[in-house]
Amino acid sequence: MAKQTLRKCNFCGRREAEVALLLTGIDGFICDECAERAYEIISETKVSDKTDNKFYIPQEQLPKPKEIKEFLDQYVIGQDAAKRYLSVSVYNHYKRLMQQKTDDEVEIEKSNIIMVGSTGTGKTLLAKTIARLLKVPFTIVDATVLTEAGYVGEDIESLLTRLLQVADYDVEAAERGIVFIDEIDKIARKGDNPSITRDVSGEGVQQGLLKLLEGSIVNVPPQGGRKHPEQKMIQVNTKNILFICGGAFDGIEKKIAQRLNTQVVGYAASAKTKQIDKNNLLKYIAPQDLKSFGLIPEIIGRLPVLTYLQPLDRATLRNILTEPKNSIIKQYVKIFEIDQIQLTFDEEVLEYIVDKAIEFKLGARGLRSITEDIMIDAMFEYPSSGKRTLHITLDYAKSKIEKADYQHQKSE
Ligand code: ADP
Repeated sequence: MAKQTLRKCNFCGRREAEVALLLTGIDGFICDECAERAYEIISETKVSDKTDNKFYIPQEQLPKPKEIKEFLDQYVIGQDAAKRYLSVSVYNHYKRLMQQKTDDEVEIEKSNIIMVGSTGTGKTLLAKTIARLLKVPFTIVDATVLTEAGYVGEDIESLLTRLLQVADYDVEAAERGIVFIDEIDKIARKGDNPSITRDVSGEGVQQGLLKLLEGSIVNVPPQGGRKHPEQKMIQVNTKNILFICGGAFDGIEKKIAQRLNTQVVGYAASAKTKQIDKNNLLKYIAPQDLKSFGLIPEIIGRLPVLTYLQPLDRATLRNILTEPKNSIIKQYVKIFEIDQIQLTFDEEVLEYIVDKAIEFKLGARGLRSITEDIMIDAMFEYPSSGKRTLHITLDYAKSKIEKADYQHQKSE
């Protein structure tokens, strides 16, 4: 090792006393200034060579739409239509990004997506699962916090703050990312006449969002919000950012039904009405239904891929409980396994959980809270009990749910 007196930067040759900081390596030293310069050079080189970037997938490793869907199948039950649309859109998003590097005359336009489906049917889960597979910055944001500029709430630009953060403030990476905007229906225009009162969280927000969706250069507050007025804005170009929107659009079935009814009046009407699956009107959703719901046509035009999620039936709920790779039941088994306790359930218990989720009208979201109510006492007692097995019977499950019911009633 070099002697103390000879410590100097191996890059610029300056002695320790001449620099602010000298970093020690195995066989040499580097001063703070050279380290900074080296970092700059690396960053500059990375712009043209992305191969070592964590947000880069080489073309030959790019998962094909079928592979993307197979991956989604491991975590999300059913929802085939939405999975197919998502897989294709994400795949095309990658192809667009690759094509940007060439001077091809045919420019592939981005296809932002909108997914419509009741709450708890898997919209967020789909988006989150896609994120596991992707090698582009990805973030989920909630449209309910947005208000028109100048009002209490978040500015539209703050949607991109999270994206910048997950991209470690690598603007170029963020500009190729994907943003999932949840609860997009909450910014629908409230009434047909927007001029009566100021529609702070409606049309104004949609106009703002439009700018992001169609691609523009936006000043993004790096810390988000308005708490840091002194922060220096970062410019982000949204041209290549893919937006996936999700919303429950409660009551949109009525609009779909109205449209279908008016369409089928007249010749061959009865034949057509027969074919309509009244229990799942969402599958007929069309852009004009979003307009009737209160989205402005310009926004709809910027969300050309429109897909839907099915309501979850009993069989699907039962599958969700045990089939996905990280299903709720598998998670509880794991929790006990960590304490070397083997957890098993009677099949009847699983059916009972599904029944209760349907009874409480909680959908898939309810499966977890009901299972939690059944398991909470055991999770409290078992780790210190010394027991090695735990089998949940129907009677046990029922007694816990009844107790939980009682508590809920008491707290109301
Ligand atoms: P949404 O965004 O549509 O309101 P989520 O995706 O947040 O609903 O779903 C809530 C929970 O329900 C998820 O965490 C997941 O455990 C479960 N879930 C919902 N739909 C599905 C599905 N199709 N497959 C597997 N799990 C599902």
